[in-house]
Amino acid sequence: MRAVQYRTPGAAPEVVTVPDPEPGPGQILLKVAAAGVCHSDIAVMSLPADHLGFPLPLTLGHEGAGTVAAVGAGVEGVEIGAMMAVYGPWGCGRCRMCTRGAENYCLRAAELGIFPPGLGAPGAMAEYLIIDDARHLVPMGELDPVQNVSLTDAGLTPYHAITLSLPKLVPGSTTVVIGAGGLGHVAIQLLRAMTATRVIALDVSEDRLDLARRVGAHDTVLSDASAAEKIRALTDGEGAQVVLDFVGAPATTATAAAAAGIAADITVVGLGGGTVAVGFGSPPYETTVRSPYWGTRTELIEVLEIARRGEVSVHVETFTLDEAPLAYERLHAGQITGRAVIVPDA
Ligand code: NAD
Ligand code: ZN
Ligand code: ZN
Repeated sequence: MRAVQYRTPGAAPEVVTVPDPEPGPGQILLKVAAAGVCHSDIAVMSLPADHLGFPLPLTLGHEGAGTVAAVGAGVEGVEIGAMMAVYGPWGCGRCRMCTRGAENYCLRAAELGIFPPGLGAPGAMAEYLIIDDARHLVPMGELDPVQNVSLTDAGLTPYHAITLSLPKLVPGSTTVVIGAGGLGHVAIQLLRAMTATRVIALDVSEDRLDLARRVGAHDTVLSDASAAEKIRALTDGEGAQVVLDFVGAPATTATAAAAAGIAADITVVGLGGGTVAVGFGSPPYETTVRSPYWGTRTELIEVLEIARRGEVSVHVETFTLDEAPLAYERLHAGQITGRAVIVPDA
């Protein structure tokens, strides 16, 4: 089969032919219908080889959806032909976190050498994908896989971040979304679907700010050194109750800290290497700073349910498998609006 692989440290991903995978005991073979292109892949491909933590080549793609093509020995209750979304943050399934559904925080994954597909295990940017266990599949039902595959990360990650702050997202509150890209433009829709908060979106690109307004942001602000001041002006000097930073660069974490009000939540989702220093009085009193990773299995079920109600819709640009390297190039150059999705059959 054909697959998109990161093969050489520092080099662009390549489309190659690899052996067709076969499901072993307990495994499921998916025929991939769609695979999303996440900015984290670019972060991974920017790491020095000795920081990767897994060997190359790596088939990319940690947002995946597809139909069940075959099941290995002992797999029951998984119907051949059913359309499934892949729950990506694979864990051991048995530890304290995994048994709560929070496999994103598996206590034993590192020790056991368990990696998410596309981030250590072979990923979804291929014609077929091996799923290690049936619990890592969530039925999509009637949801279109191309339109909704990115909910497995670009939906699940913001959903998890938002749920952590729900008590603060009351009417009259303000939430700042920094970075209206793949994750950010879904975050805006989830905030509108789940809460009564007012949403102020920040980005460096006018196209993204336009998308942010179209998907429900009440206000948009160009992300520069004066952004925090503008947010204060828009909130009568109070600042925001919640800041979700989907860039996480030093410039945006600085904006996040400066835009936060008293008892705010600052949530750094982006991998941009920025930090928020916490000391007495700064950021404002009683502010919480956190950096979540992905989300739980239960939350993926919930995000797909929101999509089924038509309350979230990913802005998708499609590419073929052969065009996947181009999709990464465009994402790196800031030329994707919404999410790039690879469609192997296209
Ligand atoms: P993306 O490229 O689709 O979106 C990033 C957006 O940020 C773009 O619209 C870009 O114009 C904007 N941007 C860039 N610099 C900015 C700045 N200084 N101020 C405001 N906006 C700026 O990326 P994505 O796939 O949505 O991923 C977003 C980030 O989240 C990445 O760092 C990614 O690695 C990370 N991520 C984290 C998790 C997690 O579990 N913590 C999960 C998925 C992705
Ligand atoms: Zn991702
Ligand atoms: Zn575990």
